[in-house]
Amino acid sequence: MKIRTRYAPSPTGRMHVGNLRSALYEFLIAKHDGGDFMLRIEDTDQERFVEGAIEIIYRTLEKTGLVHDEGPDKDGGYGPYVQSERMKTGIYMKYAKELIDKGEAYYCFCDKERLASLKTEVVEGKEITVYDKHCLHLSKEEIRANLDAGKPFVIRQNNPVEGTTTFTDELYGDITVENSQLDDMILIKSDGYPTYNFANVVDDHTMNITHVVRGNEYLSSSPKYVRLYEAFGWEVPVYVHLPLITDENHKKLSKRSGHSSFEDLLEQGFVTEAIVNYIALLGWSPEDNREIFTLEELIKEFDYHRISKSPAVFDIVKLRWMNGEYIKAMDFDTFYEMAEPYIKAVITKDLDLKKIANMVKTRIEVFPDIAGHIDFFQELPAYDVAMYTHKKMKTDTASSLTVLKDVLPLLTEQTDFSNDGLYQMLLKYVEEKGVKNGYVMWPIRTAVSGKQMTPAGATEIMEVLGKEETIARIQKGIELLENA
Ligand code: GLU
Repeated sequence: MKIRTRYAPSPTGRMHVGNLRSALYEFLIAKHDGGDFMLRIEDTDQERFVEGAIEIIYRTLEKTGLVHDEGPDKDGGYGPYVQSERMKTGIYMKYAKELIDKGEAYYCFCDKERLASLKTEVVEGKEITVYDKHCLHLSKEEIRANLDAGKPFVIRQNNPVEGTTTFTDELYGDITVENSQLDDMILIKSDGYPTYNFANVVDDHTMNITHVVRGNEYLSSSPKYVRLYEAFGWEVPVYVHLPLITDENHKKLSKRSGHSSFEDLLEQGFVTEAIVNYIALLGWSPEDNREIFTLEELIKEFDYHRISKSPAVFDIVKLRWMNGEYIKAMDFDTFYEMAEPYIKAVITKDLDLKKIANMVKTRIEVFPDIAGHIDFFQELPAYDVAMYTHKKMKTDTASSLTVLKDVLPLLTEQTDFSNDGLYQMLLKYVEEKGVKNGYVMWPIRTAVSGKQMTPAGATEIMEVLGKEETIARIQKGIELLENA
């Protein structure tokens, strides 16, 4: 049987890391086996609908390379692929009525006041109202009369009060619940829309979905879905409920963390491929300890049986490291295209930005790191003369002053201001004086950068700064040292 998976997002805003993980795993399960990956938009909760959210879904799938074989924009014969459009075909009502005929569902006409008067129970920290099956006992005539009078109604699932329901989750194993715990959940709402609870079952079945991957917040409702499958006499798909993703403090990863969505991560300068790679490892691991995977490699290696059910901690430090690895491995042109805006945000002078980019490529983890490495090119920062003193280089303020004063005329005479030309010239001076390289380079680098750490050596920096600026900075250094 051909594997068919679906990504079924609700268009409610940004792409949460957890949703992207579901999409990725669904994609990988299908592609690993040459199956089909489908996109279905679950927009039955009109109150939660957010303008622009559907565009985010498409953009994310395209950017991450999770190409869907079928979806609202690619008909594969199982459409419509948007639940609000499916509703208009009458599909949900048709199946709800089939359940009513089978005694597995019933009309409920209870108004808000009556529902408010019902007992509530606290389940998993949430207060829920357990419906008392009041309307199950309405006679055919009463139901008819209510419908004819246009009385608002919902359709509820009729769950047994005795016995148990068992289903299997690939990660959590066999789960058995007492049927008395199963609320008669609403299948069709009073606005005529199906609930997610009903639509996901009808759609997954009618769209021939074989594997359902979703967050484990759906685990507790799954027995009710299984009851629906059984009531229809349909085959239950393979369920894979994914572990929770937590932040560093082991709390559910939420907006407050500042990096809970794909868009947040892009804005923070992460590379799409690194994000996808990292998200693949939020719950899944390969047999060896390998960590860097292209999407193609993930397709080959991914095995959903190796997903762990313990919570996955979203470790931003780890993602930063991984991102740095992707940046290092990038070809220069791609890197430059992405780095340029970050460089231009700091440097407005007419300098060789490509040379600057090349200096930082192996030193950053995310693009915003660039600023801190290169800001001194734009303007010499104020610095402390103490920086000239370096134990290992055997320099102090006096030796630095001598070196700077010696090299100033040499630099003024120098016509070849390339890295190489400058290096050769300074090497000669080093040899004449019979000192170590660092003895000369350290004070020069300090004077031209004003920084303890720079992304390149003294001569590379001077090459980018150019003769005039270099000389001005050396003079500034001399002044500082003389006044110290
Ligand atoms: N629309 C649901 C959500 O976005 C999908 C759950 C599922 O995959 O079944 O959470």
